[in-house]
Amino acid sequence: MSQTAQESNSVGDAQASVGDPSTIAHRQQPSSQPENSPPSPDEEPRLVLLLDVTGKKHDTISERLAPFGYWVDEIGRRDDLSDILKRRKPSHLIIRIDGSILGQKTLEMIEYMDDRTSLPPMIVLSQDISMQTRLAAVRAGVSTFLGEPLNMIALVDRLEATRRDKEHAPYRILIVDDDKTIAKFHATVLGAAGMEVLSLHDPNKVFDQLSEFRPELILMDHFMPEVQGRELAQVIRQEPTYDSIPIVFLSNEDDRREQLILMRTGGDDFLTKPINAELLVNAIATRAERFRALRATMLRDSLTGLLNHTAIKERLNVDFGRAKRTGSPLSLVLLDLDHFKTVNDTHGHPVGDQVLKSLSHLLKQRLRATDVIGRYGGEEFVVVMPDTPQDAALRVINEVRDAFAQVSHPSPNGAFVVTLSAGIASHENEGAYKKASEMMKAADEALYEAKGNGRNRVETAA
Ligand code: GH3
Ligand code: MG
Ligand code: MG
Repeated sequence: MSQTAQESNSVGDAQASVGDPSTIAHRQQPSSQPENSPPSPDEEPRLVLLLDVTGKKHDTISERLAPFGYWVDEIGRRDDLSDILKRRKPSHLIIRIDGSILGQKTLEMIEYMDDRTSLPPMIVLSQDISMQTRLAAVRAGVSTFLGEPLNMIALVDRLEATRRDKEHAPYRILIVDDDKTIAKFHATVLGAAGMEVLSLHDPNKVFDQLSEFRPELILMDHFMPEVQGRELAQVIRQEPTYDSIPIVFLSNEDDRREQLILMRTGGDDFLTKPINAELLVNAIATRAERFRALRATMLRDSLTGLLNHTAIKERLNVDFGRAKRTGSPLSLVLLDLDHFKTVNDTHGHPVGDQVLKSLSHLLKQRLRATDVIGRYGGEEFVVVMPDTPQDAALRVINEVRDAFAQVSHPSPNGAFVVTLSAGIASHENEGAYKKASEMMKAADEALYEAKGNGRNRVETAA
């Protein structure tokens, strides 16, 4: 089985004019957006407004941002900016200037705009990197200043880092408390604060929940009929995977000594019942956040920010286990850049690194939040797609392949394109795979087939 998606959604042909054509001269829609479905008026998380006062063609920015899921509307005249911001809510405003007086004037205009609260995060692209221009940008409230010629990956990096809608996944909190009423109360309070909460009344089941729910903090009752919180914490900490998960004990205990013993056994904190809701939320959120940051550095690849080899394998195991139990489909994708050695040989390792970053950005943009992306090795990536049958995975990955092939990578030796090949293995219904490792092997074989069949293609395991 194979498919290479020739029905290309080329970036150039998805143009359509929306809004007031006199002020918005150009609109470019990324291929992942269904055609003719304008986003709702108050939420346009991938719309970038471009105010270009250099008089140069902006097309290359539009075209080069499209594969990353952003589309660009140009503001025809700078005086229209305020009006447009009354109607649109873009994710960013890019201001492109050069050394001319027009650039300074534009920044000043923004500095003195009446309704500055309507301004999205702003990025200046400038040929002029003088102190005077940089200061003018800072005074206008610009958060990012990039010199030209434009480093596209730097721009995408900044767009991602400063997105207002940046989804912040809710903290996952596991409550272990034999008292259902109290557990429910705490769950309600934390849930109302936007956290994802799972309550467990039987401490014997804690390990099932640890691997399945992957909590970022455990809120544990200290006094339970069968087991003491302190003992349970020790049992959990004996498992290396969970030895750093924060555990916060809840108890009526106000004896100082008992608290000290609790802390010594690995509990990170001690809260006394009854606890006020605001205090509870604060205590939990702070610790969960710290844990998440710590985990991120342990589990993530430093170049791309994707899960590293160990972490993605762990996730595959967990998701595979769940798919087997629940009977829901699961797809696993192995992606590998084509002839990447030649890229390094021709353009140098640092340029190669930029290509790897650009693919990781593209994957993050194109895939669902529930898909898990990892860097498996040098130029090999893994995507775990829960609840995804093979045909759907094939479609999405072919879109990724197609979009990536359209990205032009800048280099001192001349811009170039890179393609990728992928292999997909899926577990559907009574799937053929007994273990996650078998699935990985099948995906690897499919990838090998894709390479053998000419590269720049996606193959599925039989
Ligand atoms: P194929 O199409 O068969 O996959 O060919 P290829 O050249 O991509 O495969 P090969 O396995 O021969 O070479 C992979 C190259 O990827 C070799 C190595 O220099 C490069 N590479 C691995 N990790 C990194 C990295 O972190 N940064 C850069 N720039 N290059 C890397
Ligand atoms: Mg109790
Ligand atoms: Mg390769």
